[in-house]
Amino acid sequence: MEQDTFGKNLFSLKTNLSFAELKDIPKPLLKWYDENRRRLPWREEPTPYRVWVSEIMLQQTRVEAVKPYFERFMKRLPDIRSLAEAPEEELLKLWEGLGYYNRVRNLQKAAVQVMEEYDGRMPCRYEDLKRLKGVGSYTAGAIASIAFGERAAAVDGNVLRVTSRICMDERVIDDTKVRTCVEEELVRVMPKDRPGDFNQAMMELGACVCLPNGSPHCGECPLSHICKAHALGCETEYPKRAPRRERTVEEKTVLIIRDENRAALCKRPGKGLLAGLYELPSLEGFRTEEEVIAYLRENGIQTLRIQALEEAKHIFTHKEWHMRGFMVRVDELTPRQPSGAAESWIFVEPQETRDRYPIPSAFSAYTKYLDIKMGNQKMTL
Ligand code: SF4
Repeated sequence: MEQDTFGKNLFSLKTNLSFAELKDIPKPLLKWYDENRRRLPWREEPTPYRVWVSEIMLQQTRVEAVKPYFERFMKRLPDIRSLAEAPEEELLKLWEGLGYYNRVRNLQKAAVQVMEEYDGRMPCRYEDLKRLKGVGSYTAGAIASIAFGERAAAVDGNVLRVTSRICMDERVIDDTKVRTCVEEELVRVMPKDRPGDFNQAMMELGACVCLPNGSPHCGECPLSHICKAHALGCETEYPKRAPRRERTVEEKTVLIIRDENRAALCKRPGKGLLAGLYELPSLEGFRTEEEVIAYLRENGIQTLRIQALEEAKHIFTHKEWHMRGFMVRVDELTPRQPSGAAESWIFVEPQETRDRYPIPSAFSAYTKYLDIKMGNQKMTL
């Protein structure tokens, strides 16, 4: 394997790639960061725990969306011990709306690991951090550099976009070898006294100036004088990405089934998409009113009224749900379990769905109907 034998130098030669520009980054970048950085709750008090939780939340989620979640999470689970001991349903409820629920499950597993293996204290070395569940090189680099001052790189999509444009890197950034190579090059140029600020400044530049879609704000960029793509006016041609995999489409009919006081929910299987969360009962494919009524009748549930709701769509990374909904008023929700349901149904007061049962945002178009008072009056939607 030539890359393994000669390392990235040969790789660089083969692609005519040069990282020479990177050494000129730190000074203007840190000056710009000192003058322009956003005041964020986790930045103002960068304890290892706060940095860790914020970085996990920020994966796949925008800064503005994360802020209220972060504050609520810290209030309820202020330290590693409270996170390790939190009941799973409460944990998922705190995460409800952020998506990618495995992130918070892994966060808790890692907290247990820290309690058991490190006596409740976050390990301070990059290599030890990487051994925690759900902590990859990016998160380990962020915690090690920001909370402990270690010279470790934290390379996310924002950082890769910046370096790719500065160096006109023709390689596909989805390749983990490219990420590792960029990490190594950035560690080389990272200032000894401010590694955490350097990493945050790179991320900040990618998030606020060197934007992904449309044109980057090169006129405001402290690195425009060294940026090769900017010099040639081809900023938007970088970074190079692997072709996206087509998403599969699943059609479903979502049911809000209510008797006078309660609504039906079911728990998703313990593995796979949205594992272990609660959801509204649904049927595969688009069903008609008559088919829904027949399905409920087969399962001993008498429909009193049924009303079609709006259509909705939810996009996951590799899958799309296209949904139609029905609000169904039934005489009584019986304890009998419907045929074909993968998991047990439970019957809950609508208030409980807000406080206790985590329902993924994929159903957000319909969960609002859980709150409608139904009684015997006509439904008003
Ligand atoms: S000059 Fe433009 S393309 Fe280059 S790093 Fe700055 S914002 Fe990005």
